[in-house]
Amino acid sequence: MTELAPCAVTEANSRGRKIAEAAPQGRGEFQRDRDRIIHSNAFRRLEYKTQVFVNHEGDLFRTRLTHSIEVAQIARSIARRLRLNEDLAEAISLAHDLGHTPFGHAGQDALNACMKAYGGFEHNLQSLRVVDVLEERYAGFDGLNLCFETREGILKHCSAENARQLGELGERFLNNRRPSLEAQIANLADEIAYNNHDVDDGLRSGLITLEQLEAVPLVATHLQEVRLAYPDLPERRVVHETVRRMINTLVTDLIRQSESNIGSHGLATLEDVRRAPALIAHSPAINEQQRELKNFLRIHLYRHYRVQRMSAKSQRIIGDLFGIFMTNNALLPPQYQHQAEADRARAVADYIAGMTDRYAIREHRRIFAVEEVPI
Ligand code: MG
Repeated sequence: MTELAPCAVTEANSRGRKIAEAAPQGRGEFQRDRDRIIHSNAFRRLEYKTQVFVNHEGDLFRTRLTHSIEVAQIARSIARRLRLNEDLAEAISLAHDLGHTPFGHAGQDALNACMKAYGGFEHNLQSLRVVDVLEERYAGFDGLNLCFETREGILKHCSAENARQLGELGERFLNNRRPSLEAQIANLADEIAYNNHDVDDGLRSGLITLEQLEAVPLVATHLQEVRLAYPDLPERRVVHETVRRMINTLVTDLIRQSESNIGSHGLATLEDVRRAPALIAHSPAINEQQRELKNFLRIHLYRHYRVQRMSAKSQRIIGDLFGIFMTNNALLPPQYQHQAEADRARAVADYIAGMTDRYAIREHRRIFAVEEVPI
């Protein structure tokens, strides 16, 4: 294995775990974090949670599970090339969406609106809550007792108010410090993954078309190249080949620009990373092209009337569930009833956030449907 760069996170410069544990045998600390994440309940639920499309709409669409695996793959490639900690980048990537509600962004917005008077709901913070508190798998502690740097990477954003309550983990938001380069990589790998798979899924669903995408430079350049080189290629393969080339362009650009940023800042330690500006970045030209693609997706895919209808339905489901659990504690499953005695709103939010798309739909029917539904 090649030696890590001096600014990489290592076991030697790690701030370690909240609760001290014996060193793992045959694997590193960050590999152990990754393994704990993969074995968690929240990780398995990602299979039935969606990004844009609801889980039952089709077997080929991305779910949060396949999305997280794609993010991890991209993050690992970048981390390895930059001689950074690949295991850490992988662990953060696999955990980054653990706190997501059912029904993607619509679900998150709905739950946040419900929780407005009770401290709000933020999926990033919820991912941290999952690994710090909610997973119940270990005899000696709640949560997964992950290393500081993995937890830091999961917490992408945070309000100043929440940061003050988070102690050591919240400090960087108050002191204008950066997280590790590995965390920065996971963050941008997330963007690369969803921009590209939303193009792919958007086309597969028929909600957007290749003709529309010809107006988006990042897509158009590769699309033209592919069509020129392979004039008889079936349309579906044109899409795959184009998306493949887009991902490659974005990853290569990110590596090149970040390498140059790291070099020009002369980073010697992890502390230097924390004091420097964000150094994992795209070149300005590619940044602009990614921004245009995001803009396109926002207007033509995320605001598509069929996506909006599903969003409206899911907001209704979450709003209804939140409302009824808040007024009638006795409808909650026993373990949440117990938690609700201390803080009902947070217990209800934890319960709802943990639901998969299909579980939320079924739970809504179990409680509200007038026709006969198995309890
Ligand atoms: Mg994500």
